[in-house]
Amino acid sequence: MSEQHEDRAWQSAREEDGHSVARAVAFLQLIGDEEAAERAGRVENPNEYHPKHNPDGHDLEVCPVCGFETFCVRSLDTFGRIGIGQCLVCTYIRSSRTADDEGFSEHLAWLGDKD
Ligand SMILES: [Zn+2]
Repeated sequence: MSEQHEDRAWQSAREEDGHSVARAVAFLQLIGDEEAAERAGRVENPNEYHPKHNPDGHDLEVCPVCGFETFCVRSLDTFGRIGIGQCLVCTYIRSSRTADDEGFSEHLAWLGDKD
């Protein structure tokens, strides 16, 4: 891939994530803080780890948009750092492209920290 191409892919992943954040924020405003907190309290992890029944499961993560621990991770990015999935309260979706992008940044930071 040419550098220009990569830049564009990165840009569109960012834009896509921006749209997803904007949708989630609008949804939170629609349901209100109280309802969001209530939903967060009721959330059950549909992808909970179980050694036998769901060995590929993941714990819920803190959602970067609403701040509740309700982000359902379906899988991890290429570097195994960033969860791909959707928040069960605000509906924020982190796509694999966004996760890869964030995972790559974290990976670089981690490489930088090593020495
Ligand atoms: Zn959320």
